[in-house]
Amino acid sequence: MDKNLLDEVLGVAARVVGSGAISANGHGNVSIRVPGADEMYYTSAPSLKGLTPEGIARVGLDGTLIEGQLPPIQGAVVAMHTAMYADGPDVGCVLHTHSPYATAFAVANRPIHCWIEALAMFGLADGVPVAAYGPRGSAEAVANIRAAVRPGVPAVLLANHGVLVFHRTPQLAILVGGVVEEAAQAAINARAVGGPVEIPADLRAAALQRAMAFDTAGTKTA
Ligand SMILES: [Zn+2]
Repeated sequence: MDKNLLDEVLGVAARVVGSGAISANGHGNVSIRVPGADEMYYTSAPSLKGLTPEGIARVGLDGTLIEGQLPPIQGAVVAMHTAMYADGPDVGCVLHTHSPYATAFAVANRPIHCWIEALAMFGLADGVPVAAYGPRGSAEAVANIRAAVRPGVPAVLLANHGVLVFHRTPQLAILVGGVVEEAAQAAINARAVGGPVEIPADLRAAALQRAMAFDTAGTKTA
């Protein structure tokens, strides 16, 4: 296997763990698309905590194991990752976690609405949808994810399971995973003080435009 890609996956896993947007047992999977090939590097270890190169497999986007180990329990959710690469030609990284607050919404079968500005800024102005439950990694589960996700939306809650994030780069995927968890946590805390309130739809678009304008302008220095 390619050492640079292995290191990249190890780095992504470590950053997801470091971000805190993960359950206590560290369960989850990271994958990155191999540039120019119909393959991904996929974490086949049960936890992202303490991941080693032995916990990473090279898997075809048709789901075939090419190199490394793929225990059946981790192999079961491969289809969730390959479907995101198939549907999004620009998708370079897929993350799956059971980050606690977002998973609370997934377990409640409730979407996360646009309660914080960062959601609007990162493609989730309409909130994070919920994909209906299907046994993990099954054709039904994958079909439900596809039914829930609109073009340009980079995250989905998996009912009674967890969160799936897919983006162009690992950096963006990690960022979106963190924003989704932050919004969920804030909303649950807000329930103690009257409940979360959505940002008005027209202002969500304004938040995105403002973020893009800053992005284009770059940081000005004196
Ligand atoms: Zn899971």
